Amino acid sequence: MKINTPSQDKYQHRSGLFRLQSTVAKLLPDARVAKCLRKFSQFPNKKRQLKDSFAKIYKSDQHQHTFLAGLEVCGSIWVCPVCAAKVSERRKEELERITTEHRRQGGELVMITRTVPHEYAHDLKTFLTTFLEAESILKKDRQYKKIVEKVGLIGTVRVLEVTYGTNGWHVHTHELWFIEKAHPALYGRISGLCYDPDIDKYIGYSKQGLFNLWTQATKKAGFNLSPSPYAFGIHNGDYVSAYLAKWGKQTDWTASAELTKSHIKTNQYAQDKGQTPFDLIRNYQQGDKQAGEKFKEFAQVFKGRHQLQYSHGLKKRFALPEKTDLQLAQETTARAEFVGGLNYHDWLLILKHDLRAKLLDLASHNWQAVANYLFNLRRYNYV
Ligand SMILES: [Zn+2]
Repeated sequence: MKINTPSQDKYQHRSGLFRLQSTVAKLLPDARVAKCLRKFSQFPNKKRQLKDSFAKIYKSDQHQHTFLAGLEVCGSIWVCPVCAAKVSERRKEELERITTEHRRQGGELVMITRTVPHEYAHDLKTFLTTFLEAESILKKDRQYKKIVEKVGLIGTVRVLEVTYGTNGWHVHTHELWFIEKAHPALYGRISGLCYDPDIDKYIGYSKQGLFNLWTQATKKAGFNLSPSPYAFGIHNGDYVSAYLAKWGKQTDWTASAELTKSHIKTNQYAQDKGQTPFDLIRNYQQGDKQAGEKFKEFAQVFKGRHQLQYSHGLKKRFALPEKTDLQLAQETTARAEFVGGLNYHDWLLILKHDLRAKLLDLASHNWQAVANYLFNLRRYNYV
């Protein structure tokens, strides 16, 4: 078996993201993602000279990592694989920082996973609206409010996820609960689930528990089938840390499969893990036209939605700055060295042949390598 060096791995990962982004750009030509790391952010005009308009390459001092500048960035976490990778990494760092701080102060974390069964072929918009309605019904429930108060809930961060499987769309949420201190009854009596470790199965549930409250809320919102207790996860702080360590790598094929595997116990969903939206793009690249249509539907329904939602006051409590996804996507390392720039014509050649990852890889060695490559590319292009 051939084993890649870390730099080959990094190159393959980055070129995979750029290829995915190029495919999305063709599917959504009018969306901001179609301009992301393509369009010059400074065009020559009366004030700006042509010589100021370049696609620039920098190398970070700390990691010797090359990156592009002088170009527009979209910050669309749902549809842009390049921005999603970067933004989710930053969001993960934020979350890790506050979860660590919370535990250091003696607090405890719990993660509640809420799913609903695949029951009929909902369109995504209906599915999402019904799901969110169920969550809203749950949170207004008097019994639920009592539980929240009893366990000493300080705040929540909710993660919204979507997959597409053989039964169609599937939306679920993971909610991190920041509670004052460990509360063992949450995993038993309060969850309402009766789990028998000898046979590794749930053997029933109580009417007052969280699981049943969620089941009732889904029915009221319009779902017909009851959620499976296996798909209603309630996990402790160690699990949250393990989940966070993997989170943000969803643009990576294997990590995404791992993540899906890890958050749901053995159940009917195990056979149908579902594809992430970026998996749909990979299938579209392999010629699956329907996967492309499904991705377009997803892009339309999820546009403008938060992937992570902090409850009111939680960011402030941990002095976390309010930054939009776009701000995070635009941030660059403070200490970086300018390596070189490409004029408009050379940049168009790079885009035409989808060579942004190659360009960054060459520039990480030396600028002469880029110059030679561009020279050959121009010749090849004019033949
Ligand atoms: Zn982007």
